[in-house]
Amino acid sequence: MAKQGGKSLGVRFILIVALSLAASPARAQSPPPGPIKISVDATHAPQRILHAKLVIPTRPGPLTLYYPKWLPADHSPDGPISNLVGLKFTAGGKEIPWHQDLVDMYAFNLDIPKGTNSVEVSLDFLLSAPGPTIDFSASGSAKLFILMWNQVVLYPKGWPAADLIFNPALTLPKGWKFNTSLPIASQSGNTISFSPVPLDLLIDSPVQSGEFVRVFPLSPGAKPPHEVDVASDDAWALDVPPALIENYKRLVAEAGALFRSHHYRDYHFLLTLSDNVLPLGQEHHESSDDRVAEHTLVDPNARLLEAGLFPHEFTHSWNGQYRRPEGLATQDFQQPMKGNLLWVYEGLTEYLGTVLSARSGLLTPQQTREKIALTASMLEHRAGRQWRSLQNTADAAQILYFAPQEWASYRRSVDFYPESVLIWLDVDTMIRKLTNDRRSMDDFCRAFYAPPDGQPVIKTYNFGDLVSTLNQIAPYNWRSFFRERLDSTAPTAPLGGITGGGWKLVYTDEPNELLAAGEAVSGGGDFTASIGLSVKGDGTVIDAIPGMPAFESGVSPYSRIIGVNGRQFSVDELKRAIRDSESNSAAIEIVATNTGTLETHEIRYHGGNRFPHLERTEGSPDYLDEILKSLTPVSVH
Ligand SMILES: [Zn+2]
Repeated sequence: MAKQGGKSLGVRFILIVALSLAASPARAQSPPPGPIKISVDATHAPQRILHAKLVIPTRPGPLTLYYPKWLPADHSPDGPISNLVGLKFTAGGKEIPWHQDLVDMYAFNLDIPKGTNSVEVSLDFLLSAPGPTIDFSASGSAKLFILMWNQVVLYPKGWPAADLIFNPALTLPKGWKFNTSLPIASQSGNTISFSPVPLDLLIDSPVQSGEFVRVFPLSPGAKPPHEVDVASDDAWALDVPPALIENYKRLVAEAGALFRSHHYRDYHFLLTLSDNVLPLGQEHHESSDDRVAEHTLVDPNARLLEAGLFPHEFTHSWNGQYRRPEGLATQDFQQPMKGNLLWVYEGLTEYLGTVLSARSGLLTPQQTREKIALTASMLEHRAGRQWRSLQNTADAAQILYFAPQEWASYRRSVDFYPESVLIWLDVDTMIRKLTNDRRSMDDFCRAFYAPPDGQPVIKTYNFGDLVSTLNQIAPYNWRSFFRERLDSTAPTAPLGGITGGGWKLVYTDEPNELLAAGEAVSGGGDFTASIGLSVKGDGTVIDAIPGMPAFESGVSPYSRIIGVNGRQFSVDELKRAIRDSESNSAAIEIVATNTGTLETHEIRYHGGNRFPHLERTEGSPDYLDEILKSLTPVSVH
């Protein structure tokens, strides 16, 4: 069911805390132009092309129009400008020449002739398909699409995005339904007119649409409303298991109990089940754009791996959207963002998302422990720890998001997601210890994300604000606590939260449930903790960890293993060889093809299979168990 109108017009996207960037000279000279009209014709979305027309009020003289470059949920300068085509500008019925700026590829320079007070823009946006690298233009298929307004918008230079008001309209393919958090002004046939909206909230409000769409209310009758909006390439995928909807309802209740605030008017989980769009989770104030493979909800392994998606993206409405680090709260989409506090923006979100996954029943406590153990093991085997600090993974996020998965251990990746789970678990158990279990991260959340409720706003913070809120909850030297962990180039991962929580990381030959699910879905093999190797199903080496047996034998990423101990390669064959290594005095013999040359490698390893788990430390308080417990009574159905 499409969302109906009735919301107040002209909601402003207010920055509570003044941004550090000075107002531009143009802003000082003139008020922002009147509302900018944008009409998107998506009737050819199945053909992978969107048409858009804009009418931008302006004055005669030089005009620079921007295409959004830095997108808040991406933390990167990755606006998909190469798919912007068909650009034409006219004023007073005459075409106006334009030039792309020679330095800033996201700026278009025009000269508006005398006697005109607006410029009309027509443009097309080309939708693509998922590929080996991240491509945000892969947002549609024959049966559905997600309109990301940044793909089709140009806006005038000189004013903060919050000051530029847009009047958006969207025409959908016939019979397609839609869902969005954008307030609707009117609807006529398959054309929807949205209420006037500032540019930053417009770009923060994607529209999901498609032929096969279904809506599941999550908090019927309660304020604010929450719902899951499902779109898929085929009708069968809309049969979401009722037990999963119950978990999502509990997620809403658990997040409410954790934060005790709502910084949105209503909330939409825009869930897209499709193999034809880029899989992602993108956070917004009042919605999240959650895209997973079509079979995810009916495949227990895929479902287990994606269990944390909604909890993560929902948490972002508080952490990342409402509270945002100063360096990531820029006044428009052209100013560079600074990622140094992403270990809070993303890292704390990943921690709270893990906690909420358990509290809402999306993961059992045992599955949550397996997930934490797998995370800890991966980070214990990061060769890059000794040159690249966790802080640097955040500082360099805009590079690391686009780095290949090969060499991930030595390069490190966006480790501020998983490693911050360990660090914030450490904070949570430390607060509990310091206060004799009277206070916890739950109290921090209530203080840091406190009301006022309602319209989406951004309240910025810096490292000092974070430390001072923690000190209100439990006085401690939090500044050094974080700096020690963030700036460390020690070879070992920060496991203090696991031990402080009453558990320890151990390795056994019993499979880790999350690791096994990952292998079942990908078809590959993860031998990180034994020989330091991960491979695809066809033997292609994804990573060989420097200092560990596979790498030391000469195996390298990008080569392909074709033989194991005289047998043709398969993941199971390699698993058997590693298992048997314990009782076998000979090395594991690998034949690999490396850029056309056949190589033989002798992996000297006799440790058998090693899979990570958490094991209880008897006699110590089980804070981890306490952290994962539901805060709301579970209703019986
Ligand atoms: Zn995130």
